[in-house]
Amino acid sequence: MSERLAMDADIVCVGFGPATGGFLSTVAHASACASSACPPNIICYERADDIGFGVSGVVTRARGIRASFPDLNPADIPMAAEVRQEKVLYLLDPIGASRRSLALRAADKLIRAFRFALPIENHALELPYTPEFLHKQGGLVLSIGQFNQWVGQQLMASGAVQIWPATPVVAAAV
Ligand SMILES: Cc1cc2nc3c(=O)[nH]c(=O)nc-3n(C[C@H](O)[C@H](O)[C@H](O)COP(=O)(O)OP(=O)(O)OC[C@H]3O[C@@H](n4cnc5c(N)ncnc54)[C@H](O)[C@@H]3O)c2cc1C
Repeated sequence: MSERLAMDADIVCVGFGPATGGFLSTVAHASACASSACPPNIICYERADDIGFGVSGVVTRARGIRASFPDLNPADIPMAAEVRQEKVLYLLDPIGASRRSLALRAADKLIRAFRFALPIENHALELPYTPEFLHKQGGLVLSIGQFNQWVGQQLMASGAVQIWPATPVVAAAV
């Protein structure tokens, strides 16, 4: 049997998603501040061929992102946009495709009955206010895949972390 190549590392992460991206950004920042002569060797394995494979989108207040990247310029992140305006729409269901509770169906009927007096456009009623927990003003609209890719590039450029795509981890030996 051929001998396996071994490599020492101080921190090894399995999988590069938003959680690991946040963790590694904090570690990279801390090791840059420590300015040690012997920085830790940090490796992150990702099974996907590309760290930007995610297709989901997210609207976030971005407090953690801004804390991790104090000099953040959203224009640097592909497909990212700042939240400048927000409104909440109650979507009606003109063809009955969604499974709604009795209460919501009753609400739909009531709204339709008053449709000429209400701000309804394209089967959506604009609510007069945005509940506090939904406020994202000043936050960011992101493609998770593009964001991961950007975070990965920042980490690799810092020299503090190596990210290895296309390397699925099947077992760990400590
Ligand atoms: C179908 C779907 C749609 C979603 N849509 C949205 C949305 O629109 N908006 C939103 O905010 N959230 C959405 N989410 C949730 C969001 O994707 C997760 O909350 C977020 O990705 C979690 O981040 P994470 O870093 O914890 O894990 P993940 O993003 O899952 O990252 C884990 C990483 O580890 C890698 N990995 C796993 N096992 C191994 C291994 N053995 N070896 C190497 N690598 C490995 C995976 O490939 C993955 O890249 C969606 C989730 C799903 C499943």
